[in-house]
Amino acid sequence: MKTLIIGAGFGGLEVAKDLKKVDTDVVVIDKLNHHLFQPLLYQVATCALSPGDIATPVRSILCKSKNTSFIMGTVERIDKVNQKVHLACGMVFDFDYLVLAPGTRHSYFGHDEWEELAPGLKTIQDATYIREKILMAFEQAERAPNHTEATKFLRFAIVGAGPTGVELAGSIAEIAFMGLKKEFTKIRPDQAKIFLIEGAPCVLPGFPEALSERAKKDLEKLGVTVMTNSKVSGITEEGVIVNGELLIAPTVLWAAGNIASPLLKTLDVPLDRQGRVLVEQDLSIPGHPNIFVIGDAANLTTPTGPLPGLAPVAKQEGYYVAKIIRKKIPKEERKPFKYFDKGSLATIGKGKAVGMMGKLKMTGFFAWFVWSAVHILYLIDFKSRIKVFFHWSYLFLTGNRAVMLITRPLENHQDEIIE
Ligand SMILES: Cc1cc2nc3c(=O)[nH]c(=O)nc-3n(C[C@H](O)[C@H](O)[C@H](O)COP(=O)(O)OP(=O)(O)OC[C@H]3O[C@@H](n4cnc5c(N)ncnc54)[C@H](O)[C@@H]3O)c2cc1C
Repeated sequence: MKTLIIGAGFGGLEVAKDLKKVDTDVVVIDKLNHHLFQPLLYQVATCALSPGDIATPVRSILCKSKNTSFIMGTVERIDKVNQKVHLACGMVFDFDYLVLAPGTRHSYFGHDEWEELAPGLKTIQDATYIREKILMAFEQAERAPNHTEATKFLRFAIVGAGPTGVELAGSIAEIAFMGLKKEFTKIRPDQAKIFLIEGAPCVLPGFPEALSERAKKDLEKLGVTVMTNSKVSGITEEGVIVNGELLIAPTVLWAAGNIASPLLKTLDVPLDRQGRVLVEQDLSIPGHPNIFVIGDAANLTTPTGPLPGLAPVAKQEGYYVAKIIRKKIPKEERKPFKYFDKGSLATIGKGKAVGMMGKLKMTGFFAWFVWSAVHILYLIDFKSRIKVFFHWSYLFLTGNRAVMLITRPLENHQDEIIE
């Protein structure tokens, strides 16, 4: 028996780990060689962590599973009728069971041209690019001929006030108002302006109103200008068009929308507006009980709407599918998948977070402590936990960020530099 798993994210790896001791050959395929802990990606983008702290090679995670092999490659097409998976490099794999967990990518709501001006955050490459963009803004301000020109560079806009937008805005404020405060001679980084732009009436839509309000207050205390009910209709090199007016901000970051992997289109099954597969209650696709879609790529409709794109959803779905494969449960005997919601947390800055667990609502330092503990606990390996704990302790005690690095010379940023 052969099980193919596409994607070594939270969902895919959970399936692979749960099939470790099962009588099936498991092949995991991913276009990258590492598993990425995306919830802490914003910390790489804002200089608090290094890429290696949150990314672990898939081989080192799976090397103890004797029945499992890893292939680095991009899956291009799925032939569900002949049970074959085609890779861009020409390799072809057949399968008895197929688990698709290819995740999502940010979407610009039909304005792909905005991507160049407003990068989104999904991969290590995105995070280091954003890190350089943020740090370059301060360097450009220092090189500006006068104060008026300099302050223009110190204007940052983040589009989307979900957890990632809130975390980015809070961290940029901390960099400007604390981390870099004393490091420049000509400019004052604390004169930076950070705008967080959200179309909905509140930040952190999806959180209870009281927590959204608290997050907004905490952000404002940090110096972030929160703009809710604000629709973005354009992004230019100068800034963002918000509610029909130009908001000057040469550094724009995108944290607003997601679209599922284009690979799913090759399955030729119904997709939702975000390109996710409308899976059946056992997470399989219609007419093919041996092909499953899990994690961010799946839309499992529940009485309260589709399940959110969160790591615990992907992991629990992975566990559920692995059990079906392990026990070879026929379709008609499968109990529907049920998600157990352990709660949600979002951090705003040092010592500040909001969260809910069941009926318990948390704010301030306690929420931040829980957020930190949960994230350390869920990192994939011991080494990452130690490294992240060390970097966070250093940041907490000194206020200094560990990785304030621009790795490309100035000349290589010319296309991004606005003179
Ligand atoms: C910036 C950010 C912050 C987040 N914060 C949180 C948070 O605080 N809490 C939370 O619970 N969730 C958070 N999430 C969401 C969480 O990371 C996702 O829900 C989770 O990663 C989904 O897991 P997955 O297995 O479906 O996909 P992913 O983890 O995205 O993994 C998909 C994998 O598939 C691979 N892949 C894609 N296409 C192909 C292909 N064609 N061929 C081969 N391989 C392919 C990718 O390289 C990747 O390794 C965050 C996400 C982001 C981007």
